[in-house]
Parts: sequence; C-alpha cells; structure tokens
Amino acid sequence: MNKDFVYNYLERRNKSLAKPEQEKLRDEINELKRQSISNLKELVTTTIDNFKNNGVEVFVVKNYQEAKEKLVELCGDAEVIAKSKSNTLDKLSLSNDFGDRLLETDLGAYIVSHIGNDSDHPVLPAIDLKAKEIADKFSDKFGGQYPTEAKALTDKLKVEIRQGIMKAEVGLTGANAVTAEGQIMLLENEGNISLVTRLPKRHIAVCGIEKIVPTAVEAVKIAKAAAVWGTGQAQPTYISFIAGPSKTADIENELVTGVQGAQEVFLILVEGEAYSKIGTEEEESLYCIHCGACYNLCATWNLTGSMPKSKSVETVYDCTLCQNCTFNCPAKINWQNIVRISRARYNKEGKNTGNNLRMIENVRKFGNPFGENAGKDSIDELFCC
Ligand code: SF4
Repeated sequence: MNKDFVYNYLERRNKSLAKPEQEKLRDEINELKRQSISNLKELVTTTIDNFKNNGVEVFVVKNYQEAKEKLVELCGDAEVIAKSKSNTLDKLSLSNDFGDRLLETDLGAYIVSHIGNDSDHPVLPAIDLKAKEIADKFSDKFGGQYPTEAKALTDKLKVEIRQGIMKAEVGLTGANAVTAEGQIMLLENEGNISLVTRLPKRHIAVCGIEKIVPTAVEAVKIAKAAAVWGTGQAQPTYISFIAGPSKTADIENELVTGVQGAQEVFLILVEGEAYSKIGTEEEESLYCIHCGACYNLCATWNLTGSMPKSKSVETVYDCTLCQNCTFNCPAKINWQNIVRISRARYNKEGKNTGNNLRMIENVRKFGNPFGENAGKDSIDELFCC
C-alpha cells in the first residue's frame, strides 16, 4: 500500500476532524442509523409509497441474486451500460453478464476493469497503482502511447470514459443513502455519477434497505461524515438527490417526462441479511455508511490488500484486533466485537484456518498458543488470537 496515501489522507482528515462539531456528528450518525434500523420495516413501506408518487418504480428483492436478475431484465439489450462505482453493484459481478457492454465510469474502477488489481478498497480501487504502470498496461492493451504523468493520463482516460457515457442507454448506480421521502442520494468527486444518472435514458439504482434514512436532513449528515472520515474532505464535491425522472411543463403547461436527465428511474432495494441482523450482536454492521475510513487505517489491509472484517474465513482470522477501525468509524461500529462473533461462529461451524487449529491445539496441550516454544528466547510461529 502507498504510504504517502495514508499520510496525506491522515493529514487532511485530521484537519477536518479538528473542528469540535465532528465528534458530535459521529454520535449523530450512530444515533440516526440506530433509529432508522429499528424502524426499518416502516421506513421501507413509506419509501416505496413516496418513490411511487415521484414516478420511480421500486422493486424489493430478497437477495443479491434476485437483484441481479431484475437488473439484467431492466437493462434488456442495451448496447452500452454505464456504471458508477458502487459496493452494492460490485457484489453482483455484472461483467459476467454484460461483458464489454458494461462501462465502468469511475476513473479508478475504469482502470481496474481494464488492467486488473487485487485491492478491495471500496473508495479508491486503483490507489496502489503507479501512473507509469497504468500507462504501460493501457498502451499494451489498446496500442498508442498513454501518458505516464497522473494529470495527462487522467485527461486522456476521462475523454474515453465520457465518450462511453454519451453512448449509454442505461446508467447504473448504487446509493449512498435513500430517503423515505423518496430520494436517492449519491456522492462523488469526479462528476461521472452525475453524467451516468442524467445522460442515459434509463437510470437504475440498487442498494440495501439498510441505507434508508427518514429524510434528506439525515442523508446530508451521512454525506458530510463520509467525506470527512472517508477522504478527509470537508464535504464531497457533488451531492445529488434524485427524486424521479427529469420533467418539464414549460410548453402549454403539459407535463412531459424525460428532458435533460433520465426519462425513467428504477430503484431496486435488497433486503439481504438486514432483517435477520436486527436485534442481534451484528446489528451494528448495518450502520456502515461505506466511507472507507476503516480500510485506510487497517494495518492488515495496508499489508495484504484484503479487509479482515469481510465475512470470509480466509480473512477474518487476519484481523489483529487493534481496534483502529472502531476508533475511526464515523458510525461508531464496534468492529472488533463483530470480528470476534464471526470467529466464534466459524469455529462452531468447524471452519478454521490451519494456524487457528494449531493454536487451539497448543492451548489445550501446553496451556499457551505457542506450544513447545513457550519459555524459549524466541518463538518459531506467532499466532493471532
Ligand atoms: S465500518 Fe465505519 S469506517 Fe468502515 S466503511 Fe463503514 S462507516 Fe466507514
């Protein structure tokens, strides 16, 4: 991981955090998410009604597989499908269905879609790639000479992306929040999401029901917190609220939908595990606003490019339980507790890593995790508990 990135991020973030109101904002985010999740069923019903009134068709689906099927159906035979960066959309692995028809429009995601990258950072997918490496790989793939300076390379790639968006018939986005008043909130710095939601005829947004908050007032708090903690900005460059298709009544006062923005807007709400987590020790994981702060400051992620709190038996044991994520989370999620719960569950299900099993065996046999090495000057293997 690029150390300069972490230091620059910390410098910007600490400046933003120096304002006393930011700690208050953290309490507010925790409280508003807690309240929203506890009223989730009611909020989902109100959300559907209000989006319908705004001319948006809403589909509530059980899981990500159903979301994907609905999305594929709504995209039909569109030749170009412009996609914004979204953790929810990424879970659907849409390139398997759409192949070359799918255009990533976030610069980092566009780069990674062409040359690959192992990092799973939710906000900055290409952060560990150097400009020269990107330019060389693009030149190899597409021919011609791609500039090796960040600014010139950005200028070249942004033109490619914009030309693609101009051809798209469908624009796909996630949502940073959805309000029960009937608005989709989207945050960005590049301006690509604004184009994706305005230029194609059809806009389809997909997100988990846990992103619903009562009103735009709560959504704006999330926008602020995501910027301050996620990227160290005082606010994101763009905040969009989309409350239906574009419309006008300028000629003869006749209401016509489809002007400069999308003509049709669809929202797919995914229930996922939200309802099953409410009231359990894992409920707090639903408070996540996907700012990415915990990634930036996670020692394991910085070393391996994999986030240990993700629900995978391969990575969850990599967590050092340092609590950096918990102390830096704007939603105040107690992640080390969730990691412990996940480990306990995996253990019950008989899912352990080899190291873990050895450690348990050592504790049983020798009363310590290091086995026969205990008491010597140095140990051969160090296990994380
Ligand atoms: S867990 Fe907290 S720090 Fe991590 S992405 Fe979610 S809100 Fe941000």
